[in-house]
Amino acid sequence: RLPTIDATFRAAAAAGPAAPAVIDGTSRLSYGELDQRVEALARGLTARGLRKGHRLATLIGNRLAFVELSLACARLGIIHVPLNTRQRRPEIEYALNQCGAAAIVHEAASGAELPDPGAVPDLRLRYVVGGSFAGSEPYERLFESPAADVSRAGVDEEDPFAILYTSGTTGRPKGAVLSNLGAVHSCLNYHHAMGLGPADRMILAVPAAHVTGLIAIVHAILSVGGCLIIMSQFKARAFLELVERERATATLIVPAMYNLCLLDPEFDRFDLSSWKVGAFGGAPMPEATARRMREKCPLMALFNVYGSTETTSPVTVLPRDAGPDRLDSVGVVLPTVDVRVMGDDGREVPAGEPGELWIAGSTVVPGYWQNAEADETAFAGGYWKSGDIGSIDAEGFVRIVDRKKDMINRAGYKIYSAEVEDVLTYHPSVTEVAVVGYPDPVLGERVQAFVVVHRETNEGELQRFCAERLSDYKVPDRFIFVDGALPRNPNGKLLKNALRRWNEPTPA
Ligand code: ATP
Repeated sequence: RLPTIDATFRAAAAAGPAAPAVIDGTSRLSYGELDQRVEALARGLTARGLRKGHRLATLIGNRLAFVELSLACARLGIIHVPLNTRQRRPEIEYALNQCGAAAIVHEAASGAELPDPGAVPDLRLRYVVGGSFAGSEPYERLFESPAADVSRAGVDEEDPFAILYTSGTTGRPKGAVLSNLGAVHSCLNYHHAMGLGPADRMILAVPAAHVTGLIAIVHAILSVGGCLIIMSQFKARAFLELVERERATATLIVPAMYNLCLLDPEFDRFDLSSWKVGAFGGAPMPEATARRMREKCPLMALFNVYGSTETTSPVTVLPRDAGPDRLDSVGVVLPTVDVRVMGDDGREVPAGEPGELWIAGSTVVPGYWQNAEADETAFAGGYWKSGDIGSIDAEGFVRIVDRKKDMINRAGYKIYSAEVEDVLTYHPSVTEVAVVGYPDPVLGERVQAFVVVHRETNEGELQRFCAERLSDYKVPDRFIFVDGALPRNPNGKLLKNALRRWNEPTPA
């Protein structure tokens, strides 16, 4: 059997058809029931002319339909393109056109963000889930009038499984192409590193449309025969209630979510004794947060996971028993991955020294969807250049010490300054703009824009301008109006570090 996402799910379903597969609010499906829904959906997609290699986009939040579509696409070799429901129309239109999506399934609430049919010529099928929307057929209709059999073109391990759009230093998002092999190896890495098995009950609280939700949660747990517990939206109190009520055993969330749980005044009232795997990633974990989680949940193993979309997530994992002097480390490199530490001259730095982490291996994406220019910049000799500055000690423990990429990490959501700056330069009042992060005790970082304007405007107007064009989390939390000009070096390059220092100490 080839290592494909469909093969791993089928194996889990065959091993335990009666075992619980998904809990989504009041819906509970066993593996047998989920497999039947996936098969019916695959036949429905086939009947509508969708075939291996076509792209199907979803613009839906964390709900059962997302899981069903991801599995049905994997069964047929259709490439799933999960878009985030926080994205706005210009971002959505760009992604749909760039990947040439033939179909989209969207939430009723996201319908208004969909481009006009003429703006996305390849998009011929529109379905809506969780309500109705003019111009889109109900999602359940995909289960009607199915093809007699699914098109079994045969899915290979090298075949793309999903395209995930990530922003970049150039402003335009790039579609990282996840292969079946990379996705399956990532799942196996999670099983192995965290000891996940069929008895595990894992909560999806991060977005399913991102690599962590898609791979570390949805497919990692469904490929091992465990139960996926879906949370439509993270709220600390609701999360703690869900762990207690469903006796959840595992999750992977961002450090900001642990912060928010600890801020709940009722934290101590919950019985969290079932929760044994508390993984985190996407951003650095404040030491105080990790310490307090350990005190409150002594039975839980806190795993630090370092990875990115381009690596189909895990590159390193730090297990709990790594010892107190390793807590500043993201752990050791996983067996399917190779990491080199590179200097600016393109050569490896001496052992133990910091440099840019270049990453290769079966889980690293082969490239971006139809974007030779981005491939050329981001990859070298089979390695993906992460933009993270790190070092590896004599025992193989990796530490992330800085980053090279002009990115802001807001509660695990990545914001590339160039994308926000690009939008603001189109505002008629703005002469110059620079976007940088500033520290936040709960979210890690927030976004601020330094602007020079040549005619009257204000923070509210600039925020609205951004909100119409960018996902809400990318909209600057605050604007600093600068008289004159932004600081630049003699070559005209913005001195962003000077702007970052401008913030110290952070105003309340
Ligand atoms: P998601 O798409 O679900 O947000 P992700 O955060 O793993 O997943 P990206 O959005 O591609 O993936 O962001 C990857 C970047 O996040 C890394 O290059 C690094 O800068 C940062 N990062 C990820 N994990 C960690 C970690 N454990 N500690 C510190 N920084 C991290």
